[in-house]
Amino acid sequence: MAAPCRLKSMLALVTGGGSGIGRAICQRLSVEGASVVIVDLDKAAANASLQTLSRNLSGQEHAAFATDVSQANHVNSLMKKIQGQYSLPPRIAISSAGITKDEFLLRLSEESFDSVLNVNLKGPFLITQAVARAIVASGQNGGSIINIGSIVGKVGNLGQSNYAASKAGVEGLTKSAAKELAKFGIRCNTVLPGFISTPMTDKVPQKVLDKFAGMIPLGRLGDPEDIADVCAFLASDDSKYITGASIEVTGGLFL
Ligand code: NAP
Repeated sequence: MAAPCRLKSMLALVTGGGSGIGRAICQRLSVEGASVVIVDLDKAAANASLQTLSRNLSGQEHAAFATDVSQANHVNSLMKKIQGQYSLPPRIAISSAGITKDEFLLRLSEESFDSVLNVNLKGPFLITQAVARAIVASGQNGGSIINIGSIVGKVGNLGQSNYAASKAGVEGLTKSAAKELAKFGIRCNTVLPGFISTPMTDKVPQKVLDKFAGMIPLGRLGDPEDIADVCAFLASDDSKYITGASIEVTGGLFL
């Protein structure tokens, strides 16, 4: 069945768009008519995603930028470049950039804790704040901010105390932003993936993946497109009465 076209002429920013879930989100938003700004640490990866996007019907081009979302000066200069290239700020912002540095708590270094928190939690904070400020300053109320959390932020996971803390933080950040930004018509929601087949989960030992796959009621790991489907819904007016929500996309894991 063809995807609907709910995001025609809308500008969307997607971080982590060079890989995995972020790339699938960029593809889905472009199919639905959005102009997509792909942001990734790795410019080559962002450019590779750019090549896979559907042509934009409104004539507004897609773009790719290298940005470290954990650095405020990078995010500020990204916003300036976007404002220079497009007349209005993004109305859709999806933070999918994320990293893992897994280690058991007793052996976890301060560096591994800080770097995971900086990318996974400070990154969404900087993007949410920068995009919301730009929308408010433009006087064009309305927008949809979507942050990718994780089911692990709710239930914890062996070897992932840094990652779980960052993802629990993403939910708190997003719910608070939803309360503050509702008066500007900006909705903020979190998507909580379960185990999704991407380069990130490629690092997980096969026996661990098999164990989790066996626990998933729907009987399989997720695909990046399963997350992109939900992000497209949250980006669109089909979810116009949803804000501050956390939507689990896990195939039923940990029900
Ligand atoms: P992925 O394939 O590794 O993609 C993550 C992307 O983020 C990569 O392109 C990475 O670039 C980029 N990135 C990392 N640090 C960055 C930074 N400082 N600034 C900008 N971009 C940065 O992982 P994924 O599986 O698609 O994960 C996407 C999101 O979903 C993450 O937030 C992850 O925590 C979350 N999630 C994933 C799963 C899963 O099972 N896959 C489950 C729950 C939640 P480099 O490759 O250059 O580092």
